[in-house]
Amino acid sequence: MKREPKREKLVEYRRKRDAGITNEPFGGEVPPADEGTKTLTGAYVVHLHDATRRHYDLRLEVGGVLTSFAVPHGPSLDPATKHLAMKTEDHPIEYLDFEDVIPEKQYGAGPMIAWDRGSVEYLEGPAEDEIATGKLHVALRGLKLHGRYALIKLAKGETGNEWLLFKKADEHSSKDRNIVEELPRSVFSGLTVEELERAEAIGKAMVARAHAAGAKKLDAKAARALFTPQSQALASATVGSVTGPAKGWVHDPDFEGVRVLALREDDDVSLVVFEATGAAQRIEAFYPEVVRALRSLPVTRLALDGELVAFDPTGRPDVRLLAQRAQRIAKGDVHKSTTSTPVVLMAKDLLAVGDADVRPLALEKRRTLLEAVVPALGFLRATPPLEGAIEPIVSSCAEHGIGTVIAKPRSSPYATEARTSGWLSIATGVSRGSRVAVDHRAAEAQTALRKVNVTNRTKIFWPEEGYSKGDLCDYYVAIADAILPFLVDRPLILVRYPDGIEGKNFYQWNVPPGMPAWVRTLTVGDRDEARRGFLVDDATTLLYIANLGCIPLHILASRVPHLEHSDFFTMDFDIKQSELRHAITLAKTLKELLDEIGLAGFPKTSGQSGLHVLVPLGGDRLTGKGRQTHETSRALADLLGTLLVQRHPDIATMERVVAKRGPKVYVDTGQTGATRAIVAPYSVRAVKGAKVSAPVTWKEIDDDLDPAAFTIQTVPKRFAKIGDPMKGMLDTQPDVAKAVSALSKLVAKG
Ligand code: MN
Repeated sequence: MKREPKREKLVEYRRKRDAGITNEPFGGEVPPADEGTKTLTGAYVVHLHDATRRHYDLRLEVGGVLTSFAVPHGPSLDPATKHLAMKTEDHPIEYLDFEDVIPEKQYGAGPMIAWDRGSVEYLEGPAEDEIATGKLHVALRGLKLHGRYALIKLAKGETGNEWLLFKKADEHSSKDRNIVEELPRSVFSGLTVEELERAEAIGKAMVARAHAAGAKKLDAKAARALFTPQSQALASATVGSVTGPAKGWVHDPDFEGVRVLALREDDDVSLVVFEATGAAQRIEAFYPEVVRALRSLPVTRLALDGELVAFDPTGRPDVRLLAQRAQRIAKGDVHKSTTSTPVVLMAKDLLAVGDADVRPLALEKRRTLLEAVVPALGFLRATPPLEGAIEPIVSSCAEHGIGTVIAKPRSSPYATEARTSGWLSIATGVSRGSRVAVDHRAAEAQTALRKVNVTNRTKIFWPEEGYSKGDLCDYYVAIADAILPFLVDRPLILVRYPDGIEGKNFYQWNVPPGMPAWVRTLTVGDRDEARRGFLVDDATTLLYIANLGCIPLHILASRVPHLEHSDFFTMDFDIKQSELRHAITLAKTLKELLDEIGLAGFPKTSGQSGLHVLVPLGGDRLTGKGRQTHETSRALADLLGTLLVQRHPDIATMERVVAKRGPKVYVDTGQTGATRAIVAPYSVRAVKGAKVSAPVTWKEIDDDLDPAAFTIQTVPKRFAKIGDPMKGMLDTQPDVAKAVSALSKLVAKG
């Protein structure tokens, strides 16, 4: 718990932005730059940013953040053209994945696309040293830019931030090509910066186009079957030779990569491989750049058939690169291996888009739709099939080292049986040697991948006590078994404190872009104002959000798929204007009342000021059978509150106007409802002492109770010793109807 002042690289970035409003990653997760090591290679991104003035932003990975330059005219391929590049504030590393419309009134408001992505090598020494001397020589290997570039600081610049960016002469330089005009689109979504703001409408138009082409409407049942990997298979081909006129066929080279079924539904993306036995395995955790690209597409639901391919520096597909990368990723080396060996999903067939099932359509129609939906360049690509006589195609593929060509009849539907699809596998005569297997063994790899590196462990979050961010993360790991049952399937409201309890804080309404592919999400609300929150159902995701600086975790009293139901309600005894002993008296009376009417109550400290009693309502979570509406649970809470005030008018009030409450305990029943949240059992509070909202037994509800004794230091030990006093709370099945009538009688008696 020692204090360690750390050079904060993102201070200016954060100062310019309101983290509660912007959708940009807020950083705070600077990877712990290995002290003393300097940067020789890294990742880069070029954004096209349509802000007040349209410009490109070149961002190079240096020391765990992105050194950024605003380049009004963008990169050029002509060594004679030197463009102004204004050095701006460092950006967080997560910005590599950023593409979105920055909201109005925010710094940099306007659409921003990822125009290029790739890896950078610093040619004349570590980037840190080069930047200090005002000369930066780099080699880029990107989806669009290639070869050597130089950035030279102007000695007589007005602000000291003026640099010049220019191409160095090499085989990639050109005097004639204008690359920014030639290739204007995003390498994620395939959209232009103008189109990004209309993405939703563009997506809808694509689906409409599929229907116009004669697609079948995908009903709920068919959609469920299609989007459940286990019930799927991919089209297969048989060995054969093409007969009949050439115009009846199209051809695809087989890159001998990894053939996958790619599925996207909102933010849920799966890449599925099928074993020879037909068993399905999800491998998307190995391909974050492909997941990012699929998530960016303007169509929010699609299914496609494709091949994951890694290309060597000469542009030839090489399955050995895929195999090596999978091995490194399985060991947890995700960022570096995805940077040095990018993978592309070559999309070859479209199965469904939106609610349009295109499988019954002729192959040529599906391909036309596929090329409309999937970009031609980027991490996800659709390229037109080869047409014409088979012989020249076979020999041209052989020249490029391709061992197999798949011939497909133009008019065939998408069918998993070769007999119906009519696909033929034709050998080109090139021997690729023995087939290399890419190992995606899930058990080990996925565990390794789902590793959260806690960043800024030593950053002080509670200055008075000296508790650090690492202490917060350790607490949530230690208490995971106790808290998770209260978080699973429940919308959470997260408040982030990236600088601890005394710093700025903000609500994290939506899952930020650039999160790891394994993080699950939960969508709440209608289409137009849907929020995509974290679905915290395991210890790793809990640690992930703790690492974002989330201190308190607030939960709703409802769970998916039935957010219209409450599964418990909360009686909150707020003692801001009173004393704990009165809250204890009221809680004890509440316990008597609950016993009388046949309901159970589970007390906890609020961690802030007072006591909560959670009253479970039972019912079946999945079917919703026996569940109560929010109105019923609110009515129950209000009736109980009224009785408590009747019995203890001297110490209790339900008065909503604070000034009229007087020195009484406020019995707050307003925390039940579709949008009402309470702090979760075992949640830490962002208050002095790092106090925890701790479940206690009814026996402990007496005058010895000391809520301040429950802290991130004491609660894990207590849990290890006595278990969870709230255990089983959510499995309690009371007879609510009976309780309501018993309660009405009590109220009538007065
Ligand atoms: Mn910019």
